[in-house]
Amino acid sequence: MQDTPRPTKDRPDRLAEAWGELVAAARRTVAEGLVVGTSGNVSCRIKDLILVTPTGVPYDRLGPGDLTAVGLDGVQIIGSLRPTSELPMHLAVYRDTSATAVVHTHAPYATAVSTLVTELPPVHYMTGALGGPVRVAPYALYGTEELAAHMLDALRDRTGCLLRNHGTMAYGDSLDQALDRTAQLEWLCRVWLIASSLPGHTPSLLSPGQLDEARGKLGGYGQPGRPG
Ligand code: 13P
Ligand code: ZN
Repeated sequence: MQDTPRPTKDRPDRLAEAWGELVAAARRTVAEGLVVGTSGNVSCRIKDLILVTPTGVPYDRLGPGDLTAVGLDGVQIIGSLRPTSELPMHLAVYRDTSATAVVHTHAPYATAVSTLVTELPPVHYMTGALGGPVRVAPYALYGTEELAAHMLDALRDRTGCLLRNHGTMAYGDSLDQALDRTAQLEWLCRVWLIASSLPGHTPSLLSPGQLDEARGKLGGYGQPGRPG
């Protein structure tokens, strides 16, 4: 593992601080049961620099000297550890949206649901927090451009999606927001699985109109002037 990156004039300690936040977010995915071991990956964007978790390194072993960053073209700019194998998915989100943070997990309920349906049935109004009914991207091998293309299709007008037989993708304006959306998505999958597993019962679903109404109201949810 290499030395702490030296601050430069135009990106002083901001990079080191962002790296600390990225590692903390990656550790949270393990602590919250959203991934096991080195599964999943996290990234954040600072201007045209994408900070990413390295491939196959346990998050509790990452230190300040392991900063790993690539450009929007995927070329490594900082670090000696190889970037996450899911670089194609992360870069696709940054190229296509205004995201500044992306979280990929193998959250268990979400992964289970990804094997059962092509869209998560809208059992709860929090579906609106992800932009509408969550789609499941068709399966493709991990780390491929094909998977990234399927994911982008599934993310249209959404801030999160499922990846068939694989896991979750969510993005946001901050690592906290991308993580929160991931946790909400996992919770929605859990609720649907519980509700749909009772023999002889079928969960009631929200209508498109009810979801639109909830999405509109969620836009003003929380305290004015404070990030969610
Ligand atoms: P990395 O260790 O390369 O980030 O891969 C984990 C993963 O979730 C692949 O889909
Ligand atoms: Zn994965």
